[in-house]
Amino acid sequence: MYCNKCGSYIPSMRKVCSNCGTPVPDPNAPAPVVEPPPEKRPNGIAVAGLVMGILTVVFCLLPGIPFLTGLLGIIFSIAGIAKKNARSKGAAVAGLLLSIFGSALSVFALFAITIPGITKYLAKAKEAESYVRTMGAVFKTWIR
Ligand SMILES: [Zn+2]
Repeated sequence: MYCNKCGSYIPSMRKVCSNCGTPVPDPNAPAPVVEPPPEKRPNGIAVAGLVMGILTVVFCLLPGIPFLTGLLGIIFSIAGIAKKNARSKGAAVAGLLLSIFGSALSVFALFAITIPGITKYLAKAKEAESYVRTMGAVFKTWIR
């Protein structure tokens, strides 16, 4: 046979090329197993992260819910991104972005809608309280 590095003739009983020293492959050795790239694992948590991200954006105007879904979305998405050799990494990245975006929207909604509503409610309550006080004073003058 011939050396597959330098091309010199090697007598069949030699194990090393006399010209360059390259080991001769053993014809009886099993062919090297070429392993196919491992199939990527399904990534359920990444998909869960995406779903939570979508829910966060959809429910961003509701009080409470977006905080729960946003937190879960961020946790699931990061777990999905961190999962090695897994599919649906894009879904996990989208889930992370949507969760952050939805959470930001819900915080904005809280400040823009909920807090003015509470302020208005408190102002109304104060008004009612002063009304009751006035009525009380009127009643007192009647009692006397
Ligand atoms: Zn050789």
